[in-house]
Amino acid sequence: MRYAILSDIHGNLEALQAVLARTARLGADMVVCLGDLVGYNADPNECVDIIRSDGIICIMGNHDEAACGLAEPYGFNPAAREAALWTRTVLTLEHQIFLRELPRYLLIDNIVLCHGSINDTSRYILDDADVRDNLSLMDGLPGGPRACFYGHTHVRAACHAEGQVIAKEPGDEISLHRDRKYLINPGAVGQPRDGDPRAAFLLYDSHARNVTLYRTEYDIAACQSKILSAGLPAGLAERLSVGR
Ligand code: ZN
Repeated sequence: MRYAILSDIHGNLEALQAVLARTARLGADMVVCLGDLVGYNADPNECVDIIRSDGIICIMGNHDEAACGLAEPYGFNPAAREAALWTRTVLTLEHQIFLRELPRYLLIDNIVLCHGSINDTSRYILDDADVRDNLSLMDGLPGGPRACFYGHTHVRAACHAEGQVIAKEPGDEISLHRDRKYLINPGAVGQPRDGDPRAAFLLYDSHARNVTLYRTEYDIAACQSKILSAGLPAGLAERLSVGR
């Protein structure tokens, strides 16, 4: 099974469409999303429409949680908070209900999918302690999944208990060894923060046990002009040009 794994779409319709066109051309069997369908950018309804109509399996992100009213955006920076509250006002009731019902994590095909950490939607996986905590949480899950795919940082990453996996460039492949457990982040579709403005995602082949990283160009200017027309903070548009 070849899974296309996306994360952090954040209401960026142009990036989502570009990524889904690419995953279709690559022949992905199934698309899954690690959360944050909405927030920051100006097309939350359109993005949730696509996710629902395509039957894409999703996890709840912290911005989804804020947009559907399950949590208040207290820990958000001012621009993120403004966008979260704006999203809440424009998101249809039906989409809010959809977001409310998303799972916090999901086990499929001996992998676990989550947004921030396995046991905390808002907690980042950043340092060695976070890695250790999540690897041990994996041991406690049914079947003892061998890989965890997560998002939330908007920066692609791959590591196991002994350290980082070196895979930096689009097209790089990571072979997953049977005797190791991995934590892997595809990067963000809708607001990359690693200095590369192109939308990020990955393909995971569960049979070949490998992961391939991808980047895709999209119409950044179109997304930016919608952010400005919606009256959202200009910084949210500007950051898309630089991938920060
Ligand atoms: Zn996010």
